[in-house]
Amino acid sequence: MTYRAPVSDMLFTLEVVGLDRALALEPFSHLDEGTLGGLLDEAGRFMAEVVAPLGPAGDTVGTVLQDDGTVATPPGYRDAYRKFVEAGWPAAAMPQEWGGGGLPWAAGVAIQEMLTSSDMAFSLCPMLTFSANEMLLQHGSDEQRAVYLERLVSGAWTGTMVLTEPHAGSDVGALSARAVPAGDGTYRITGTKIFITWGDHDLTDNIIHVVLARTPDAPPGTKGISCFIVPKRLVGPDGSPDEPNDITTVSLEHKLGIHASPTCVLSFGDRGEGAVGHLIGEENEGMRYMFTMMNNARLQVGLEGLAIAERAYQEAVAYASERTQGRAIDDAGPSPIVRHPDVRRMLMLMRAQTEAMRAVMYRNALAIDLAAHHPDEAVRDAEADIAGILTPVSKAWGTDLGVDMASLAIQVHGGVGYVEETGIARLWRDSRIAPIYEGTNGIQAIDLLTRKLPLSGGDAIHGLLAEARRDADLLEGHFAGIREHLVAALDATGKATDELLGALDGRLGDALAGATTYTAMLGITLGGWLLARSARVAAAKDTDGFHSAKIATARFYADHVLSTAPGLLAGVLAGRDTTFGVPEDALGRV
Ligand SMILES: Cc1cc2nc3c(=O)[nH]c(=O)nc-3n(C[C@H](O)[C@H](O)[C@H](O)COP(=O)(O)OP(=O)(O)OC[C@H]3O[C@@H](n4cnc5c(N)ncnc54)[C@H](O)[C@@H]3O)c2cc1C
Repeated sequence: MTYRAPVSDMLFTLEVVGLDRALALEPFSHLDEGTLGGLLDEAGRFMAEVVAPLGPAGDTVGTVLQDDGTVATPPGYRDAYRKFVEAGWPAAAMPQEWGGGGLPWAAGVAIQEMLTSSDMAFSLCPMLTFSANEMLLQHGSDEQRAVYLERLVSGAWTGTMVLTEPHAGSDVGALSARAVPAGDGTYRITGTKIFITWGDHDLTDNIIHVVLARTPDAPPGTKGISCFIVPKRLVGPDGSPDEPNDITTVSLEHKLGIHASPTCVLSFGDRGEGAVGHLIGEENEGMRYMFTMMNNARLQVGLEGLAIAERAYQEAVAYASERTQGRAIDDAGPSPIVRHPDVRRMLMLMRAQTEAMRAVMYRNALAIDLAAHHPDEAVRDAEADIAGILTPVSKAWGTDLGVDMASLAIQVHGGVGYVEETGIARLWRDSRIAPIYEGTNGIQAIDLLTRKLPLSGGDAIHGLLAEARRDADLLEGHFAGIREHLVAALDATGKATDELLGALDGRLGDALAGATTYTAMLGITLGGWLLARSARVAAAKDTDGFHSAKIATARFYADHVLSTAPGLLAGVLAGRDTTFGVPEDALGRV
């Protein structure tokens, strides 16, 4: 399996969603599109040459909990991580004042996509570190930033996010890990956490855990959660790692995919009074802090769907061009399967939906940049709303599609797709976690429905749909077919939105029954909108193969995917009646 970073596609998508708006912002004044293109080329080369080759051994060897209690990564990972850090990639989208590259997030997502396409298991380590960085940037004290941030930004140390407990998964408020003040300004953390990604490893000499726990008098539920820095090794006065903290890696999970990403059960306080923890911000504010960084974290998991879909598409095209079977209608002899209409349909479904995802997610990232840095407060607020709406869509629609696209790639491969040697099965296995972690897709849909649709009294979602409608109005001539499907999808999505907003008041159960279907409908429609825009952008450029293919892809999406959006309306509006039509005690019976 080889990987080729789709840099031209990425730059084109960034243009379509409005990268120029990010580059006009003061913090990014050191950048222009040319510099960015060079940087993405360089990143693509690095990921393809250094990270992508890790995958097969990472999958078959996996990580090992050794007799001394430490975790060993698969062959090649230490060396690749060292090169990754030396090249400065962990810091690319971090602020320059902390040693970062100062890229807008709209460009950072392109690098993250390449990293994840190359090896999703490897990508999780910098991804979690990025979340820890964000937490410290936004809520850490000056002293905490001085001790931890620069090393985390550079990748010299890595970070984790430590939330889940056996009885507290989606319901984070049920967590019971304890944090008791030690009297010297620090806390002693005790409790067991499960499923902690890259919770231990041998890539760096320290790991900075961001742990959620309760102080002794904390109120129940999410209102009583506090957030702590708990380093694997305590940091000495000179800033270097010192004594080990009281943290034990109890076991590693054996799982379906991402075998090279150690998923750890961690026990805090097994050896004494507890692990030393440092409070971030104030007590009981932990969930509020988590919410402020959620958009980025969730978008990054959404990107896993995109990254897997892109890689699966590349593999499927390569295989379909080589494998011969049967005779295509215009051919004289044995044909490569790429010429059979059904195989071509599958490849186009993968290509079109991958490009639709990329457009929605890059727009999502741009909204995060504009919400953080635009000089005009009204723009910041409006973009914060857009980021709020797009994030659960990127996460849920994107990761469900990632699984579907990996599955389609197996189908293109036929029987050899189902055996492990081709590597395509690994992509599907790896992809399957993304709809589950960082808030399951069911929880994302609830978030979209109950928190995001009501933003600014419903004006935010209506504004987004209205912007799409304005673009639809610009589609004429040979784009009339795209316009027809886009208008129908927008009509149906608009109706679904109005009905759900109405149902939130008094008929919540009915609304929740349609939440996931609505999330898919919105994703399909927004993807269709941005692909329609990309067709117009492409039409205004050269009539070369690249731009013609963009137009053809948008047309295919409109006919085969966007056209399905109105059909989802019935499911969105069906309410509880049909979902709960079979009584609970009859569910298990034939
Ligand atoms: C490989 C892996 C890596 C992970 N990495 C981390 C990590 O680094 N840090 C960390 O803290 N955690 C991590 N997790 C944990 C992950 O975030 C949880 O598994 C996830 O939040 C779901 O929790 P759960 O497994 O308890 O499922 P449950 O919460 O039991 O959910 C089961 C099902 O019920 C649904 N459901 C639950 N509650 C509701 C509700 N209120 N309304 C509607 N549907 C609902 C869910 O959508 C899901 O379909 C990881 C998990 C895995 C498998």
